[in-house]
Amino acid sequence: MRTLVTINREAVRRNVASVYDRSNKEIFAVVKNNAYNLGMREMVETLMDAGVRHFAVAEMYEAIEIKTNFPDSYCLAMNPVDTFDDARKYGIALGIASSEWVERHADELSGIELHLKVNVGMNRFGISSLEEAEAVLALSVKHDLKLTGLYTHFPLADEPEADHDSQVDAFVTIADALRARHVFDYIHSENSATLVKRDPRLAFCNYVRPGIFLFGYSPIEAMDWLVPSLRMTTEVVMIRDVAPGKHVGYGTSFTTETATRVAMLPVGYGDGVVRARKALPVIINGKTYPIISKLFMSHTFVAVDDDVAVGDEVVLYGDGIEIDDITRTGAANNSEQMCARSWRLAHRYI
Ligand SMILES: *Cc1c(COP(=O)(O)O)cnc(C)c1O
Repeated sequence: MRTLVTINREAVRRNVASVYDRSNKEIFAVVKNNAYNLGMREMVETLMDAGVRHFAVAEMYEAIEIKTNFPDSYCLAMNPVDTFDDARKYGIALGIASSEWVERHADELSGIELHLKVNVGMNRFGISSLEEAEAVLALSVKHDLKLTGLYTHFPLADEPEADHDSQVDAFVTIADALRARHVFDYIHSENSATLVKRDPRLAFCNYVRPGIFLFGYSPIEAMDWLVPSLRMTTEVVMIRDVAPGKHVGYGTSFTTETATRVAMLPVGYGDGVVRARKALPVIINGKTYPIISKLFMSHTFVAVDDDVAVGDEVVLYGDGIEIDDITRTGAANNSEQMCARSWRLAHRYI
């Protein structure tokens, strides 16, 4: 295959082991969006090999896919849903988005495990005050609901200057009050950026809830212990000597200054390589070469030398130029590149 995506299961297993070591907690693995677009079934299988049993996703259909293929897993669908029969049938836990949601659906929630979400500032889902939390507790008692989980999501953990600390305090205050009156089996709050802080205030959380770390990428500074799981290669399909003062590709965005040996790659933004990829070189036979011009839908142009021939392998991600480096370009970020990559490309799992 000309353009090939290789996903390394051993890298994922090593990242899981490192997260266990660093957190000393159980893992609720976030595998939303097709496991960060690495393949839901393959990644859940790999994570289970590494000892993970608990999974969190955004949508119900993702949870159903996991429970259908991995009945031994525990699965939490975090977005508010109203497909309660499916939740019961597949044994899927649901996130509580608000007290109003519990009130509206109280009669339909029997037998379904529920995780109460606390909103500390993202203002997406979750109860926003102790009064609202108490209203949920009261409804839970009244309707004999299975309130087994408590969680939050910290939106400022990856911004050094932002006031993450007071959001942690806000969660702890509500969690302490609830825990005095109710026993939760699952308490989870730390995403990747939060778990490396090893915040002692969050010691009462028995699970961490990372996503991107498990796949070897960092939402914050580079982590030398992470092992990138994705490698993407293509090959040179044509080489052309272009005279000085000529354009390559559509438009006039690139003009050769000197005589340039230009290699054509059969890959572009249509394959989900983000345009910010242009800022980083590619690797051919162990040497780096710059991408010139823009990325086009199905093609990319690289300036090469006489060491490069048609058919040579070109590394787009791997060998030290990694998806994390996209974040450094400032024009895109790592998870965006992960999610953008097309499933039409050939994928191989090793
Ligand atoms: C995506 C997500 C996570 C995981 O975040 P990472 O930064 O990938 O570790 C955790 N919790 C919620 C609610 C999420 O949406």
